[in-house]
Amino acid sequence: ARMLAYSPSQIRESRLKPENTGRVLPVRAAFVILVRNSELHELRATVRQLEDQFNQRHHYPYVFLNNEPFTDEFKLHMEWATSGDCHFGLVPYDHWSMPLWVDRVRAKWAMAMMGSRVPYGDSESYRKMCRYESGFFFRHPLLADFDYYWRVEPGVEFTCSIPYDPFQYMVDNGKLYGFTISVREFPLTVRTLWSTTNAFRAAYPEYIAPNNTLRWLTTSTGGYNMCHFWSNFEIGSLAFLRSPQYTAYFGFLDRAGGFFLERWGDAPVHSLAVAMFLDKSQVHYFDLGYYHKPFQNCPTDPDFNEHHCFCNANRSMIHNEDSCTSAWLAL
Ligand code: GDP
Ligand code: MN
Repeated sequence: ARMLAYSPSQIRESRLKPENTGRVLPVRAAFVILVRNSELHELRATVRQLEDQFNQRHHYPYVFLNNEPFTDEFKLHMEWATSGDCHFGLVPYDHWSMPLWVDRVRAKWAMAMMGSRVPYGDSESYRKMCRYESGFFFRHPLLADFDYYWRVEPGVEFTCSIPYDPFQYMVDNGKLYGFTISVREFPLTVRTLWSTTNAFRAAYPEYIAPNNTLRWLTTSTGGYNMCHFWSNFEIGSLAFLRSPQYTAYFGFLDRAGGFFLERWGDAPVHSLAVAMFLDKSQVHYFDLGYYHKPFQNCPTDPDFNEHHCFCNANRSMIHNEDSCTSAWLAL
């Protein structure tokens, strides 16, 4: 096939989005997308849906992050697909690696033992990704000027129009974390996450919110019920992730090595932090049209009919026995 050439001047010119020059955003917020060059076309489809359903009316900027340099082709396609300014960042090596204190032999053994028993059981790069999304993306310099983030992944779909501004909703209602799907974790991947978290709570009792929601995650015998917010969709406060309590918690977990000695996901890590550090009133269930393989959220509220959804509300995750959202709402 013939290769297209993408010249630096072409990229520079495409960056000039005159409609954004001098524009002041109502909220200092951005979409944050960790993605590989090879996922360009899946992401194009996702970003076009996000623009059509929401951002064409708002022009929020995008921050793309990658552990390898983005290609010119990737950058140009993203500039074309979006109506907000695009920023392309490289993840520093320290943020994308197995820390030196993690026992290499035990880590190798853990990957071999999990193998294909759980998704990505044998993947070292997936573990680096989970550690990065747990503890580092919010420290990237490209996010320094933002207060809120909306996480997006290649391949996800936005199946309803979003006729209001979720970022503005967060600000106006004092929300610090928003989710749309909750699900249960594979126990093998988090064998000691709960006990390590209990050790953290014992060491830092002053960090635990009086009106916390740990009961949402606790079994009748005091263990972890595996519930978590599915973190491929998140709208959240960066100040929350940068807070002393969150960074202390991440550091504590990272020291314990479970991102590699097990396969701790960023979803349970974020969820445990939200449950410990926030009030229930600071967390919001966004009932949006959203699909990430293999689950979806489709609004069941009839008022949403006017939002031109193309999802099937009967298939919404909220009806699935592995969803924890009804239990969350009933807290
Ligand atoms: P899943 O949703 O748990 O199946 O995992 P994904 O493969 O979707 O990965 C989660 C997010 O991290 C997605 O946005 C991916 O594009 C991104 N991601 C995963 N692995 C890598 C990687 O090695 N490099 C980069 N740059 N992004 C990655
Ligand atoms: Mn994904």
